[in-house]
Amino acid sequence: MHEPLSRRAFLGATGAAVAGSALARPSAAVAAPAVHIPPPARPVAISSNNSLRPVTRAVELMLQGADTLDAAVEGVKIQELDPADDSVGYGGLPNEAGVVQLDASCMHGPSKRAGAVGALEGIKTPSEVAKLVLRYTNHILLVGEGAKRFALSYGFKEEDLLTPESRQKWLAWRANRGREDDWLDVPQGEAMVARPTGTINLNAVNAKGEISSVTTTSGLAWKIPGRVGDSPIVGAGQYCDNTVGAAGSTGRGESNIMVCGGFLTVEHMRRGMSPTDACLETLRRVVAMTPPRLLDGQGRPTFGLTFYAVNRNGEYGAASIFPGRYAVHDGREAAAKDCAHLYERR
Ligand code: ASP
Repeated sequence: MHEPLSRRAFLGATGAAVAGSALARPSAAVAAPAVHIPPPARPVAISSNNSLRPVTRAVELMLQGADTLDAAVEGVKIQELDPADDSVGYGGLPNEAGVVQLDASCMHGPSKRAGAVGALEGIKTPSEVAKLVLRYTNHILLVGEGAKRFALSYGFKEEDLLTPESRQKWLAWRANRGREDDWLDVPQGEAMVARPTGTINLNAVNAKGEISSVTTTSGLAWKIPGRVGDSPIVGAGQYCDNTVGAAGSTGRGESNIMVCGGFLTVEHMRRGMSPTDACLETLRRVVAMTPPRLLDGQGRPTFGLTFYAVNRNGEYGAASIFPGRYAVHDGREAAAKDCAHLYERR
C-alpha cells in the first residue's frame, strides 16, 4: 500500500521530476566544476575592520574543535552585543523612523545549509537567529514580525536596541535632515552629514578545510523602514561553498545585490583566482553595473563597498572600492591589514 505523500515529500518528488526533465544532458554538464584545494595547516578567519576581537574568538574556538559556523557566529556576537559598535546589533543605528532593524545571514559549508533574517526588530543577535533558521527550519529567510516571533519562540528576549548614543545620533539626523520639515535644526556638533554604514562579514575555515560564513548588520543608517540590504541575501552579503571558499561584503548593499557579490566572488575563486583578485574582479563588476547617478565625473562610485574572501586552503584577501582595512586571524595572530582597492580616495 502506498503511503499518502506528505507535502514536503511531494515537493521533493516533483522537484526531482522537474529537475530530471530539464536535464536531458548528463548531470556532469551542470555540476559546479570540481576543485581540489588542500585544507590550511591552521584555522583562518577574515572579517571587516571592526572585527579583530571576532576573528580572534573564531580562531580560538576552531582551535578548540568548534564547528566553523558556531565559531563564526560566536565571533560576530561580540560586536553585536557591544553597544559601542553602531553598525550591528545592540546600538546599531536605526532606520528613518528611529527603529533598529537588523539583517543577518549565514552558511555552513559542510552541510550545505543557509539561514537568514531581515528587518528583525528587538533582538540583539540576529546572527544567532539566522543560525537557528539554518539549523531548525526548511526555509532560508525569515523577515520582520515573523522573524521576531521565531526568535522569541527560542527564548530570545525582546529589548530596546537603541542606546543613548545611537538615539542621540538619530535625533540629530532627524532635526537636520531638511529645511522644509517641521523639526528645528540643532547645532552642527552632532550633525550626521555622512550616511554611516557598517556591518560585519566573517568567513572562517578550519584545519579540516570546513568553511562557514556569516554577515550581520543594522543596515544603512536612516534607511526607509522595511528596507533590507545585502547582508541577509544569501549569495550577496555572504556565500560559502565548502569545496572552494567563502566571501562576503560590507558597504552599500544595493550595489552588491545587483551583482550577487558573495556568490560571484566564490565563483571567481572556483576558476582559480586568489581571494584578493576575486574580490577586485567582483568590484569591477559592481562599477560596471552602477547607474550614472551613483558615479562621479570620473566614473568612480560615490559609495563604498568591500569584499572579504577566504579559500579552502586558508588563503585570504579583501578589496574595497577606495582604500580600507580588514581584520584577519591566520591561526597564529590577529592583524588589521590594508584592503586592495580600485581607486584612490574620492
Ligand atoms: N551592507 C549593509 C547594508 O547595505 C550596510 C553596510 O555594510 O554598511 O545593509
